[in-house]
Formats: sequence, C-alpha cells, structure tokens
Amino acid sequence: MNFTPHGKHLIAGAWVTGAQTFASEPSHGPSHDYSVGTPELVDAACTAAEEAFWSYGYSTRQERAEFLNAIADEIEARAAQITEIGTQETGLPTARLEGERGRTTGQLRLFASHILAGDYLDRRHDQALPDRAPLPRPDLKMVQRPIGPVAVFGASNFPLAFSTAGGDTASALAAGCPVVVKGHSAHPGTAEIIAEAIHAAIARCGVNPGVFSLIQGGKRDVGTALVQHPLINAVGFTGSLGGGRALFDLCAQRPIPIPFFGELGSVNPMFLLPAAAANRGREIGAGWAASLTMGAGQFCTNPGITIVIDSPDADVFVEAATEGLQVTAAQTMLTDGIADAFRQGRDRISSAKGVTELVTSTCDMRNATPYLYATTGEEWLANEELGEEVFGPLGLVVRVKDHAEMIQIAKSLQGQLTCTLHMDGADTALAKDLMPMLERKAGRVLANGFPTGVEVCDSMVHGGPYPASTNFGATSVGTLSIRRFVRPVCFQNMPDDLTPE
Ligand code: NAP
Repeated sequence: MNFTPHGKHLIAGAWVTGAQTFASEPSHGPSHDYSVGTPELVDAACTAAEEAFWSYGYSTRQERAEFLNAIADEIEARAAQITEIGTQETGLPTARLEGERGRTTGQLRLFASHILAGDYLDRRHDQALPDRAPLPRPDLKMVQRPIGPVAVFGASNFPLAFSTAGGDTASALAAGCPVVVKGHSAHPGTAEIIAEAIHAAIARCGVNPGVFSLIQGGKRDVGTALVQHPLINAVGFTGSLGGGRALFDLCAQRPIPIPFFGELGSVNPMFLLPAAAANRGREIGAGWAASLTMGAGQFCTNPGITIVIDSPDADVFVEAATEGLQVTAAQTMLTDGIADAFRQGRDRISSAKGVTELVTSTCDMRNATPYLYATTGEEWLANEELGEEVFGPLGLVVRVKDHAEMIQIAKSLQGQLTCTLHMDGADTALAKDLMPMLERKAGRVLANGFPTGVEVCDSMVHGGPYPASTNFGATSVGTLSIRRFVRPVCFQNMPDDLTPE
C-alpha cells in the first residue's frame, strides 16, 4: 500500500497543522505539502516533553526497553512504505534504505538490551566509614540519571539512522529523556511515517505522548527556537559546520547554557605508507575509489584525502583510483542545495594554487560525478582550505616528499572523525611515529580499511575534536552515546527506598 503523507506535525500525541505549508522536493515521485514549523509549536512540544519527563524519566529500564523494541516493531511493520517514500525523497537506492532501516531498528533494540544490562548507570558505592579519623565518611552512592527533554535535528544524509528515530533519539529515549525532533526538510515524508511508528508504540506501551514530538522544518526559526527553549537540556545534531556552529553558539549564549552535541565536518585522511603502497597500491587505490563514491560520497566518514610519499608506487595507487572513479556513473544527491554545495567545493579545490586535476567530469542539477585532484605536501600545508570537507565524491591526493613531511601533515590536521593508516609490516616504525598525532586528532583510528561503514556497537566512537564534533568527549554512534543524555548524581546517606536504581 502506498503511503500518502498528511503533512502534519506530531505534537505530544496530536497531529497538528499550521497556516503555512512547504512542498517537498523528491528526487522522483510526487511532491507533497507539509505544514511549516513555528516557535509556538516548539513551545508546545517542549512543554509537553517536560511534563512527560516526570513519569518517563522515572520509568523502569524494563519499561523503556519495551518501548524501544515496540518502536522497532512499528518501523518494521511499515517497512515497504518507508523505503518507498525514503527513496523518493532522498534519491538513495532501495538497498541503502533497507539497510539503513535495519540499522535503525537494530540500534533501538541494542539500546533496549544495553539499558537492561545496566552498565551505563556506572553505579559506584563508597561505604560509610563512621569510625574514620579525623572525620567519618558518609555513605556515598553515584548513579547516572536522565537530564530531561532533548532536542534532535534530523540529518539530511541518514533519513532513518540519524533522523526521527535514529541514534540520537534512541539513546535519549533509552536514557529516559523525552525527545523533540526538528525534521529535516529534505525528507519530511520519511520523518512523518517514522513519527507514526513512534506514535503507535507510545499507544501500545501506554507512555506519556509528550515523550516524543516531531516538528517539520520549513523555516530557520524552528531550529533556533528549539535550541534556545528553556526546557531543552541538550541537543543532538548532524549537519554542516556552518549550521552546527551557529546552533552551538546559540546554546552557549543561553542564560543557562546547554551542551550541543554536533557532528559536523571531517575529511577523514588516509595515510598510505610506503610498504603498503609498494605491495598493495593498486588494491588500495581501487578500494579508495569505491569508498569515496559510496552513497554519492555523502558520508561524514568519506575519506576525502590520501597522503602518500611521492614515488612510482604512488603513481600505481593513483592510477587505480583514477580507473575506479572514471567508471562510476552519476549519482543523485540528497538535495539540490547539497548538489550545489558539492560543485562549489569542487570549484574551491580545482581553482586552488598548486592543485592538478586527475579525474574531472561534468555534473549538473541534483547529480554528482566523481572528481580527483592532486597536490604537494608543501601546497597542502600552505593552504588551510584544502583541508576542508567537500561533501560528495571528491578525492585529493597529497604527495609528500618524505616521512618528515607526512608527519608534519598529521600534526597540522584539524579534528577528524577518523584517520586511517594503510600499512604493512615494514611500515611499523613510521606508523608508530604517526600514531600519537592520529590518536590526538581523531575519534577513530583505522588500520588497513576504509572509514565508511560505521559499526553500531559498544566500542564505536563517532566523534572527535572540533570541527569533527563540538564535544570531543562524546560519540553519536554506539551505546556510549547514551552518556550524552545522562548526568551523574551522588546520593549521600540516602535511605535505599529514596535512592534510584
Ligand atoms: P545543515 O544546513 O547544517 O542543516 C542541518 C539542520 O540544521 C537542518 O534542520 C537545518 O534547518 C538546521 N539549521 C542549519 N543552520 C541553521 C541555523 N543557522 N539556524 C537554525 N537552524 C539551522 O546541513 P544539511 O542540510 O544536512 O546539509 C548541508 C551541508 O551539510 C552539506 O553540503 C554538507 O556539507 C553538510 N553535511 C555534513 C554531514 C556530516 O556528517 N559531516 C552530514 C550532512 C550534511 P533547515 O533545514 O530548516 O535549513
């Protein structure tokens, strides 16, 4: 059965409209009208979220686990319709939408089992020492508690796994925090059908409906009102450096500042070390081309830069990457705006001093075709712009003179989501020299792989120093991401029946 969106916001269990509408811009299929969000709707959603917190924030872990599993079930019950509207709106292929749905429901179920295990509570107990001299020690217990209503911004590039019921929402709900989602205007119909699934799970589990609201976008004042709302305690965001920084600054300027967990830009550099280049240059070049073009390069972990020592082995690597990129067909980007931004980024790189073209193509409208450029270590170090993210299938090879210049590049990097080493046994000494820098710059350091494809698990870190993220102590993927939405509270000499958990 086809899904025909009604275009309404979900505010605390009620589907509501406003005076204005905006039209969706799908890559194919029909466009639909959606109600434009307003600051008044933000206020209604946040007020209901705060009200819901007084029950939801004190619910049992079992109750919340059932709720998370019910959301996953309700999403699966709408699987075909989600894929249909999702592919239309984003231009992403069916297999990607299906895979992303599995990741989204898997994430919800993972958080259900994670909170049941209880490790995230990090419970600590210092027993009372009444006879200690010179002062007795009181009984002290620490446990992590939910922080209250949380705002989540849907991401353009992950319509399911980083949007309405994505990782931010799943981890906040798992912690016991009601969520107000600002939908991304690139996929309002996908947001609506996922909100319907959450709405159904709320009814099934008897949860206070204020625990979840979806406000469609359409105007910038929704996002600004949301992060400034006094009842919001933290924000989860994935998007551009410019947008994320503006919202981060608003959070810091509030009378009561709140944490802004923004996942922003990253070029995810790969260091191709000499022995690996000599032994496997061709294979790594082909792998790089595939990773760069996956999902039209619209991954935050897209490996945009490879640093390699100038040599005939580097030529072999570049040749293989070039061949891989040249046969990649045009792909549809998520929005017209993102396709425009990609071409602007391409122009910025192609017109920079000391940059040569290796693969060029022509793309227009919402299409992207791959580009590959090369520069020297010296030019790269002299031009900060070459280290800025181009969101899309574009690669830059930085050919350095020697080990020392490679290390200098590693030292000069901005914060990254990932850094990758391609190395063989004979590269160990150079790899050891690079490791302290890579560890300092990135949230995840890889050996002999490609950073696209982020596993959702206990050890994953999807974050890193600014501008990869606005909060280097946090991750937005994996079970550790729940820590963003809890805070430690110490209970001193508190009777057991007054102490949570
Ligand atoms: P975006 O422009 O940063 O928008 C993300 C969300 O923030 C949207 O809901 C947007 O609202 C809102 N927003 C942005 N700036 C705002 C402001 N000043 N005030 C209030 N709200 C604001 O990101 P995008 O639309 O996803 O994509 C644009 C670019 O972001 C891409 O070209 C790419 O460079 C980057 N991007 C990076 C990643 C990554 O993982 N690193 C992921 C996705 C996108 P509206 O929709 O109402 O404008």
